[in-house]
Amino acid sequence: SPPLLEVNDLTKHFAVRTGLLGGRGAAVRAVDGVSFSLERGETLSIVGESGCGKSTVGRAVLRLLDVTGGQVVLDGRRIDDLSAGAMRPLRRRIQVVFQDPFSSLNPRMRVRDILAEPLRNFRLARGARALDARVAALLDTVRLPRDAAGRFPHEFSGGQRQRIGIARALAPEPDLIVCDEAVSALDVSVKAQVVNLLQDLQRELGLALLFISHDLAIVEHMTHRVAVMYLGQIVEIAARARVFAAPKHPYTQALLSAVPVPEPGAARDRIVLKGDVPSPIDPPPGCRFHTRCPYAFARCRTEVPRLRRLSPEQEAACHLHDRPAAENPLA
Ligand code: SF4
Ligand code: MG
Repeated sequence: SPPLLEVNDLTKHFAVRTGLLGGRGAAVRAVDGVSFSLERGETLSIVGESGCGKSTVGRAVLRLLDVTGGQVVLDGRRIDDLSAGAMRPLRRRIQVVFQDPFSSLNPRMRVRDILAEPLRNFRLARGARALDARVAALLDTVRLPRDAAGRFPHEFSGGQRQRIGIARALAPEPDLIVCDEAVSALDVSVKAQVVNLLQDLQRELGLALLFISHDLAIVEHMTHRVAVMYLGQIVEIAARARVFAAPKHPYTQALLSAVPVPEPGAARDRIVLKGDVPSPIDPPPGCRFHTRCPYAFARCRTEVPRLRRLSPEQEAACHLHDRPAAENPLA
């Protein structure tokens, strides 16, 4: 059977005006040729610095924006070009948890009504008793007390509010949840609890998660695979163990060098990148990372590196891997 989700050569350009007083038109190349797939029950994390396009990928999968090119395929069926009407019955299957539970929960609605809304919209419970039973079951699922149903969002802590957000996402019984920085705003200890809950739910319910995050320390504990994005493109995509033990792209290596290593005595070489992320309006030619890469050589400035499979569970887009091992610091 096809993967649950396939994203093929996804591109999203936003039109902007550059310069003062309505200068020439230009395009922000927020996402430029992104491809990946996701199996049922799998977690794929998309990581990268803010502005790398990871949230745009999430929003395209959720059909919250129209794509410029490429395809989003759910269960073998293309969804990026469906009308709102044709999309409606499929909406149930892809849900979202956003970063900020404060702004994504209506402060004037009780938790019962917040959870009943998707149940009603998707006709998953009929009548007050069936609704109440489903709401109680959802609160159990996210480990909140049942009396939470009668309370308002402001009566809960940040972590509890995010559990309400997760319960709302679970209400329509989705196959896939897009988590966009879903734990980034939470305190460290609360973060771990919410991540553990997501992992438990994934196992119990067979959910797939597209986990969008800038926080590699969190990702390391809960993902199956990782896609690293830089300036609108995936530069490395690999199984978790491969990425964290032996990154094959200099940008991945640099991101990881900033993540504390859990084992005492172990250390990663600290790599501080020079310069800022270039503008996605006019990305550098050749390898987009060449202006900041500590290993850049002549070819990197002119020739675009393509994602290449280096082992069964690891692909990276870097010219170093065409060199002999003795001249490849990431070999
Ligand atoms: Fe660095 Fe060149 Fe590899 Fe790009 S292709 S990451 S510039 S070594
Ligand atoms: Mg974002």
